[in-house]
Amino acid sequence: MKSNKDYIEFTEKFSANNYHPLPVVLTRGRGIWVWDVEGKKYLDMLSGYSALNQGHCHPRIAGALKKQADELSLTSRAFHNDKMGDFLEKICTLAGYEKALPMNSGAEAVETAIKVARKWGYYKKKVKDDCAEIIICENNFHGRTTTIVGFSSEVQYRDGFGPFAPGFKMIPYDDLSALDNAISESTVGFLIEPIQGEGGVNVPADGYLRKCQEICRKNNVLLIDDEIQTGLGRTGRLFAYEYENARPDILVIGKALSGGFYPVSAIACDNSIMEVIKPGDHGSTFGGNPLASAIGIAALDVIIEEKLAQRAYELGNWFTDELRKIQNPKFKEVRGKGLLIGIELTEKARPYCEKLMDLGILAKETHDMVVRFAPPLIIKKEELEWALDKIKQVFNT
Ligand SMILES: *Cc1c(COP(=O)(O)O)cnc(C)c1O
Repeated sequence: MKSNKDYIEFTEKFSANNYHPLPVVLTRGRGIWVWDVEGKKYLDMLSGYSALNQGHCHPRIAGALKKQADELSLTSRAFHNDKMGDFLEKICTLAGYEKALPMNSGAEAVETAIKVARKWGYYKKKVKDDCAEIIICENNFHGRTTTIVGFSSEVQYRDGFGPFAPGFKMIPYDDLSALDNAISESTVGFLIEPIQGEGGVNVPADGYLRKCQEICRKNNVLLIDDEIQTGLGRTGRLFAYEYENARPDILVIGKALSGGFYPVSAIACDNSIMEVIKPGDHGSTFGGNPLASAIGIAALDVIIEEKLAQRAYELGNWFTDELRKIQNPKFKEVRGKGLLIGIELTEKARPYCEKLMDLGILAKETHDMVVRFAPPLIIKKEELEWALDKIKQVFNT
């Protein structure tokens, strides 16, 4: 039998060295559990960066995939298909918007939001040609395209990849007066994460998003809410903005939109904004294809019917309280919402993630000092109790 080490050595021979994964090779997943090639079982507390809110290989989504794979996989948007309408209707109904535009990866959806906001700026707000500005926050993570890394504050994300696209202005996160001051007559949008996931599970002050919305409205600036990681139940609401009733002008979703089967993303907004997009303005060969649409419909149905947002709310509050009870001088802060939880340490988190792995829990550090816990939302309380026991073994001093 080949070991984890064998697979890793073999794979690294051919793979670009762009990740630093934990040394485990997974071969099977069901629900909240995954198994490595040596037969060891782990609780997945990363959930594919929240793409697996519905758990691994959810039978209902797998069924939809298999059925559609035998019917029609791809038409390209040169022709219509009979699934995309149902998918977009579902997104619009759930999120409360008039229109949706489907893409594949999260970064593509963010790019789509940027294009729509800029074109809206020129055609509706009458911003001077080529002057549109979008405000973004320090510590943001919106993906890895050249435009998006160009407005990252993370040195490594940018280093060696310039020159970058202009038109972005950076302000500190959770700073309302910085937003107010940064807005000019050329500002078309403010792009924000309701909680910064990759940035270290940074939760802004209560009321921040609501006040951002007010500032944006007052200045005719689009509030663009990247809920690729926080959305679809993760934080205890279907969308994190619901905590503050701060409905954005453009909503960006991805990750769990497919339950982990396939890259599916989208933006949603009202027609007064989406109508600036004309045939030929934007597109993607795979965006809105029938396979993605069938998967997306099933993935959304599971989130609603299994009440995953409510589960995340109840279990997340309980689990966060329990984590806060752990006495460890290296704990700087336990923070999060729902089942998006980060423990900030006073030292590097990687060794702790490795210890957790030995005990059968897969979690990954983010921003060096933060351990993120984000299990599939189908997890049961007993299973979280089991995890808590292991986490205490690693962190109790
Ligand atoms: C993961 C993520 C993205 C990028 O999604 P990809 O599918 O990796 O391109 C964008 N924004 C946020 C908030 C994310 O967490």
